[in-house]
Amino acid sequence: MNWNRQTLAPGLYLVATPIGTARDITLRALDVLASADVLVAEDTRTLRKLMDLHAVPLEGRPLWSYHDHSRTGDVRRVVEAISAGQSAAYASEAGTPLIADPGYELVGAVREAGGLVTSAPGPSALATALSIAGLPTDAVHFAGFLQASRQARRAALAELGQIAATLVLYESPKRVSACLADASEVLGTRHAALARELTKRFEEVRHGTLAELAAATAETPPKGECVILIDRSIQGGTEEVDLDGALQDALTKMSLKEAVTAVSGALGLPRRKVYQRALDLKSSG
Ligand code: SAM
Repeated sequence: MNWNRQTLAPGLYLVATPIGTARDITLRALDVLASADVLVAEDTRTLRKLMDLHAVPLEGRPLWSYHDHSRTGDVRRVVEAISAGQSAAYASEAGTPLIADPGYELVGAVREAGGLVTSAPGPSALATALSIAGLPTDAVHFAGFLQASRQARRAALAELGQIAATLVLYESPKRVSACLADASEVLGTRHAALARELTKRFEEVRHGTLAELAAATAETPPKGECVILIDRSIQGGTEEVDLDGALQDALTKMSLKEAVTAVSGALGLPRRKVYQRALDLKSSG
């Protein structure tokens, strides 16, 4: 038996669960799951399975569901249980709750009611990917899942291109190649990494430029869960940025609006400045 039953102070305990290998659960997470008065899960069957695997008994304790489409009543009953002096453990489907997972409303409601919010921290694909990908980690911007529509995704990428940080995206394997291709067009030449099936048997990290990874994944679509990491712009530093050259080139291939989006993202320049320059170039022929 790897867990200890304890008396927990009333409050909400956010419990991180494995993103692959089941033994990645922490001993403290097992203690919290064994001790909480109420268990709450994004998927109650997944949590039951995890508890069974680690021999944590439910022993008649309530196991409630809370997910993105939960009604306000589901949030209220957790808040009421905590206000009545109970401890509630919440686990999302995998990894850390609220990291591209449900929990935001629940945490807000418990805080609003003056309840304790704390965690049994543990696995997350975000931290795992960053720690093994080898891209800079001094500044990181986590963007979660981008929109599925191409136009919205490209607009989001153009905004992200302005940020001087390693960008981290979650993406479904079906869309990884399209997302990398858009990132390559909008952000230009940047180093990137594709981290796949972390902590699982077929864990893999591929490195390359965005264009190289886009081509490789178009040829062999990746299987399993994926994290995309994108380094900051290769341009910048002391090098003079060739805005006119980049705009002239882009304007031969796409509309003015698209060219502005692509160039501002690729060079990390404010969209307004690039737009103004594009208008000047157009009017001077
Ligand atoms: N809460 C989770 C966390 O802390 O990482 C993320 C949940 S989100 C719904 C699921 C996405 O996380 C997947 O589509 C993938 O992008 C990423 N992910 C989760 N597990 C992963 C793994 N083992 N390897 C690579 N990516 C993973």
